[in-house]
Order: sequence, then C-alpha cells, then structure tokens
Amino acid sequence: MQAVATAEAKPSAAPSNGSDLKQVFRNAQKAFDLIQKYRTPPEPKTYAVWYAYVNATDKRVVDRVDSAIAQNGTLTPYDISAIFRELLTEETGASARHTIGLAIEKEIDEVMKIIQQGVQNSDDFGACLDKANEELPGAASSGNIASLLSTLMEDNKRMAATTRELNQGLMDSQKQIATLNQELEEVQTQCMRDPLTAIANRRAFDERLEREVRAAAETGEKLCLALADIDHFKAVNDTYGHQVGDAVLQQFAAVVTQNIKGQDMVARYGGEEFAVILPETDLFSAYNLLVKIKYNFKSSETPIEGTLKTIKDVTASFGLVRFEPGMTPRDMIEQADHFLYEAKNAGRDRVKAKGF
Ligand code: GH3
Ligand code: MG
Ligand code: MG
Repeated sequence: MQAVATAEAKPSAAPSNGSDLKQVFRNAQKAFDLIQKYRTPPEPKTYAVWYAYVNATDKRVVDRVDSAIAQNGTLTPYDISAIFRELLTEETGASARHTIGLAIEKEIDEVMKIIQQGVQNSDDFGACLDKANEELPGAASSGNIASLLSTLMEDNKRMAATTRELNQGLMDSQKQIATLNQELEEVQTQCMRDPLTAIANRRAFDERLEREVRAAAETGEKLCLALADIDHFKAVNDTYGHQVGDAVLQQFAAVVTQNIKGQDMVARYGGEEFAVILPETDLFSAYNLLVKIKYNFKSSETPIEGTLKTIKDVTASFGLVRFEPGMTPRDMIEQADHFLYEAKNAGRDRVKAKGF
C-alpha cells in the first residue's frame, strides 16, 4: 500500500551553516505541520523524527515512517521511540539542536525588528508633534486649531494601534523563544541519556569523567571510577530472550541509581557494561559501596514480562580504580578495565581493585 505521506518527504538540501535558512525553516514548519496532521505527541523526539522525514537525507527514516503510516494511519509513540532510538543517532540530535538554534536566532531577529520599528514610530510621532508645534501659532491666528488637533488625534490613534500590534508581536516572539529554549534543553538532555535505562550514556560519561579528572588533578580531591559488566549475560538473553535481557539491564541501572548519591554518576558504557564515577570518594569507601551494589543486584528480582516469574541471582563483576596524579581519563578507564578483567578471571561476582 502506498503511504499517505510519501509526497511530503521530498529530499531537500541539508542546512549548511545557516546559509540556507529558508530551507531549514520550511522543513521545520513542515515537521510541525506533520506533528499536528498525524496528531503525534508534540515532543522533541517526535519533532526529530518528522524533521528527519521531511529532510529525507536518510532513506531508512522515510521508509520506516511511510510503512508505519501505511499500517496504522499515523505514527504511534512506539514507532516514534523505535525510529528515534534505531535511526536518529547523535547526528540527528545535533541537527535538531542546530535547527532549534537557528529558529531562536530568527525569533531574536524578529524582536530586534519590532524594537527598531517601535523606535521609528515614536520618532515619526515626535516629528508630527514638532510639525504641530510649528504650525500652532499660525493655525491659532487663522482659526484652524480644530483641524490641527484632529490631525494630531489621528496620528496619536495610529501610533497607539501600531504600539499595540508591536506589543503583541513582542509577546508572541517571547513565547516562541521560551518554547524553543525548552525544546533545545530537552533535545540536549536526550542526547546525553541512554534510551533503554534512562541513565547517562557513553557521551555524557566521557564528558563528565574528563571534567572530574581535571578537577581532581587541580584540587587534589579524591576520585574513583568503576567499570561493571553483567556476568554471563549472553546466557540470560539466550535462555529468556532479549526483552528479559533488556529488563535485567534496566534493573542493574536502577539498583546502582538507588545506591549512589550527590555527584556520583552511573552511565551505560556499552551493551551490558556500566561505569560509575565517584568523586570525593576514597578507594576503601568506593570498594564497600560496590560490594553493596553487587549484593543488592544479585538479590534483586527482575520480573519476566507476561509471566508471574522473576529472574534471580544474575551477578555482575566490577573493576575499580582510584585517581592518581598524572592519570588521564583513558588511563583510569584502562586500569578499571584491567581490574574488571581480573574479577572475571577470578570467578566473576566480585569487585577487584589495587590491594583488594
Ligand atoms: P561475561 O560474564 O564474560 O561478561 O559473559 P557475557 O555473556 O556477559 O558476555 P558476552 O560479551 O559474551 O555477551 C554480552 C551479551 O550482551 C551479548 C549481547 O548480545 C548482549 N547485549 C548487548 N547489548 C544488549 C542490549 O541492549 N540488550 C540485550 N538484551 N542484550 C544486549
Ligand atoms: Mg561485556
Ligand atoms: Mg558480561
């Protein structure tokens, strides 16, 4: 069946450094129109999917959207999440940020124009007053005051009407800028989050570790890093299916999140690997915390969807390292990975660190 919306996804030039602003806005407008037309939830993720569809630079997105529409008559929230997760990578996030950034610039231009017009108007009215001032003595003598006053009142009315319009324009722009800023913030947050577990993703982790290592080097504050890997995870997938495997990953993320606090950060480092950054924490406390997390995860139960059963006794191994002067983020990751490897070799379900 031919999809309804195919015609709307005509390939159009990708924006290049704001040079083709008109195209960017046309596509952004089309994306907003499609959100309304198909009554899809007005969220940044939806916007990103429709924008990529209208932009049509990735044929896979166009095909997926077309076939979803052919099947259901619209894009369901599930379609949107799946397309976003599978096809709209960081590049698309960057492009959405770029578009929203440009839209904000455009609104600011509008505001500047309105302000300039306001200044111009008040200059014009000032000129009218000056003119009246000049004409007033002559008008008084020739008895033309009434006509002069009526001209002034006309000018005054026109000025008031234009000011009202300008104010409305300013208010609209203000609202638009607030919405765009909010969208920008949400897109940025999404780019830093792992969609499956809702914790920080690798990119957010890399940025944060870089910052923490720099801070530790400058201030001499303590800093620990742990890498964790679920044990025999392939067997979980093979025995119970990929979806249950996903639920176990969510469970691990939840257990770590519940056990850390303040500036600590847990991130999904890769498939079934996680990283935990522990600023201002010494090696001994970090070790104890990880042992607690390890225990809590092992004794937690993950429900098997569609059944009353749960999975128990899935374990994880941990490699832990402490920052020492001169270390780079890469050094810390390599050492944590080395201890993780030791934990696996020693039989899994344990925390390994220098001296432990
Ligand atoms: P080990 O104890 O040595 O870590 O063994 P393992 O089975 O955990 O390690 P292995 O590297 O052999 O397998 C990891 C598996 O994780 C393979 C891959 O399919 C699975 N995996 C990676 N990402 C995901 C995901 O997002 N969801 C699910 N369900 N599985 C994933
Ligand atoms: Mg692994
Ligand atoms: Mg593993």
